[in-house]
Amino acid sequence: MNSSILQVRDLRVNYYTRQGAVRAVNGVSFDLHTGERLGLVGESGSGKSTAALALMRLSRAPGKIEGGQVLLDDLSLLELPEERMRQIRLAGIALVSQGAMNSLNPVARVRRQIEDALRDHDVKLTPRERTEWIGELLERVGLPRSAAEMYPHQLSGGMKQRVCIAIAICLRPKVIIADEPTSALDVVVQHQVMETLETIRADLGASVILIGHDMGLMAQAVDRLGVMYAGNLIETGGIQELFDEPLHPYTRLLMISLPSLERKEAAKGIPGLMPSLLNRPTGCPFHPRCPDAFDRCRVEEPKLQTVRPNRDVACHLYWDNSTSREAA
Ligand code: SF4
Repeated sequence: MNSSILQVRDLRVNYYTRQGAVRAVNGVSFDLHTGERLGLVGESGSGKSTAALALMRLSRAPGKIEGGQVLLDDLSLLELPEERMRQIRLAGIALVSQGAMNSLNPVARVRRQIEDALRDHDVKLTPRERTEWIGELLERVGLPRSAAEMYPHQLSGGMKQRVCIAIAICLRPKVIIADEPTSALDVVVQHQVMETLETIRADLGASVILIGHDMGLMAQAVDRLGVMYAGNLIETGGIQELFDEPLHPYTRLLMISLPSLERKEAAKGIPGLMPSLLNRPTGCPFHPRCPDAFDRCRVEEPKLQTVRPNRDVACHLYWDNSTSREAA
C-alpha cells in the first residue's frame, strides 16, 4: 500500500470576511495511498471539511483556494480547466457529504438522479445497460433494485445516504471523500452505512478519505489518521500506533476526552477553545491550550515533521532528529 493515488502539498484556503482573511486551511500536506482509508479528525472549525471541498475544487465564496498542489495520479487538479475538473468529479474523485442526502432532487426518481450523473459525464450506455448498471449500483449500496423507481421522500435517511453513495460511485472513482457521511443518522444506521462504504471501497479498489470528529468511528474505519487543528495537520500515523501512543499534546488530549469503558472517571474535555482564525496566536496555534507549552512555542510555528517511520508530528517537543516534510 505504498504508491500514492493522491498527493496534497501545502494546500491553503482562506475565507474572506469583513474582519479580514481567515486562514481556514493553512498549508496542509499529505499523501493518500492506493487502497488506503485515511481519516481526518478535528474539532469543528479545524479546517477538515474546508480541505475536502478544496480537494474537489468546490470551495465557494467567501472561501478561496489560495495555493498548493493536489495531484490525482499525475493530474494537477488545481490547474485543470473547470470543464475538465467537472469531468474528474465522480469519474476520478467523488464526495459524499453529510448534507448530500438533502441535495437529492425531491421531484425526481432515484433512477433519474443516477442517470443525470451518468449523462453529465457523457457515459454512453444503451438503455438496457443503463438499467442494469443502476440496478447493480443500488444493490452494491445495499438497496433493492426497485429503489430506482422511488422518490426521495419515500426513502429513510439511511436509504437516501445510500443513494448518494450510489451516485458518488457510479463512475467508479479512484478516491472517495466521505465527509461525516453518517452524522445525521442514528447509531445503528451509521454502522450499516459505514459497512456499506467499506464494502464498496474494497469492491472498487478505491481509496477513501473519511472526515469526522468521532475518534471511536475512526478507530474502526480507517488505516491511518490525520489530526487537524486550526487549519493545520498536526499529527499523522497508523491508526493503531496513534491510539497506542499519541505524540502531539492535542492528540493526547483528544484521546483522554474519549469515553472509555475501562476508565471510571467522566470523559474530560480539552480545556479552552480553538483560537479565532482571524487572530491566530503567534507560534504554535495550540500553545494557549497546551499543557506542555514552552517559550519557543509562543514564537515559532512548528512544521509537520517525520519523527519516526509512518509518524509525522508538528510540535517542538519532537523538533530534533527529524526531517521536515517540506524538506523531504
Ligand atoms: Fe504544545 Fe509547544 Fe508542541 Fe505546540 S509546539 S503542541 S505548544 S509543546
